[in-house]
Amino acid sequence: MPKKPHAPIHLAEPSIKLSARGAARLQARHPWVYRSDIIGANDIPPGALVRVLDQRGKFLGTALYSSSSQIAIRMISHGSVADLPALVAERIRAAIAYRKENDLVNDTDAYRIVFSEADFLPGLIVDRYNDVLSVQILTQAMDARPVREAILQTLREQLQPSGIVERVDARIREIEQLPPRASGLLWGDKSSTEVRMNGVRFYHDGLEGQKTGAFLDQRENYAAAARYAHGEALDAFCYQGGFALHLAAKCASVVGVDSSRPALEMAEKNSTLNGRELEWIEANAFDLLRDYAAANRRYDTIVLDPPAFAKTKRDLEKALGGYKELNLRAMKMLRPGGILVTCSCSFHVGAADFLGVLAAAAQDAHKTLRVVENRGAARDHPILLNVPETSYLQCMILIASD
Ligand code: SAH
Repeated sequence: MPKKPHAPIHLAEPSIKLSARGAARLQARHPWVYRSDIIGANDIPPGALVRVLDQRGKFLGTALYSSSSQIAIRMISHGSVADLPALVAERIRAAIAYRKENDLVNDTDAYRIVFSEADFLPGLIVDRYNDVLSVQILTQAMDARPVREAILQTLREQLQPSGIVERVDARIREIEQLPPRASGLLWGDKSSTEVRMNGVRFYHDGLEGQKTGAFLDQRENYAAAARYAHGEALDAFCYQGGFALHLAAKCASVVGVDSSRPALEMAEKNSTLNGRELEWIEANAFDLLRDYAAANRRYDTIVLDPPAFAKTKRDLEKALGGYKELNLRAMKMLRPGGILVTCSCSFHVGAADFLGVLAAAAQDAHKTLRVVENRGAARDHPILLNVPETSYLQCMILIASD
């Protein structure tokens, strides 16, 4: 008599109990629960899938566990998950389809394909630069080998890239207690390429530069700024020339300012690529704006896109002071009818805070300005409602009155 087949072996998934406060956070549809809201999480391996229970043992869903981060769990499903690599593959396909079906990406071959929590893949970022993909892995669960393999295989199947590059954030690997690793090619043989945004061409080196190489979240704002830009323009914190090169088509002259020499070297190459002549100045933009304002320089178009001033909530007051100072100087230098494109990428600075700062700056500059566009990140960087961390970028376009 044939033997009875063995029942499939189900290794019991570890489970985790949440305090009432932790459960309330999930009820509010935020996917993160902090370690202080976890009761009972013994011997859970780093990066494990965990069943999440409330205090009374009621099943709330499945999460990714981190043994070291203050964010102990990130929810991945309200149901059970049998196979994490398969779920990750399915979610990547869904992220690609979401952008396609809703026609979110226009006039470019450089855009974000996966935006972590906002695409239901906490800890994974994927950007596309034409035929080169750039991947960032930010959590223990996403770093597990079978998950990495699923990410690569799905991206190759769906997008047929020439190269897939990983950009490593050493600080995040330290927080997640993951072994150090270097940025580099994960697949294929190509890590640099050329991209287009709104008809403007840019070189892309997947292993250099800030973030994954470019500030793709500003892509739609470049086109918006160019709609109003005119006359003499100043792009402060220009990086590789994202705004400046878009302004060049509309302006008589454009000056870009940044403190990073490598960024300006790339900006210069990008201007040659587009057959444009711009002026690039390596300087501290705070000092330069102060000096230019004191010297009564005037511009018709000014862009301010500084790095995040408020990295934590504690920095908020200081950050608001920094934004006010920059905007005050820029407003003073605007000619009547001039355009100010002003950005904040500090998540802790909300839209109301930023508007408040701009209003205070206008008051001190004795200027009247109107907001023509109140913008955020490009649509391929979705904002997940109830997850404020996904809404971090403000971009206001203002016009100075005569
Ligand atoms: N507008 C750019 C992105 C700007 S990111 C784009 O769309 O591509 C912020 C830039 O500010 C970085 O390039 C960084 O090198 C630069 N930066 C940081 N501190 C600075 C300072 N004090 N003065 C000038 N540039 C600075």
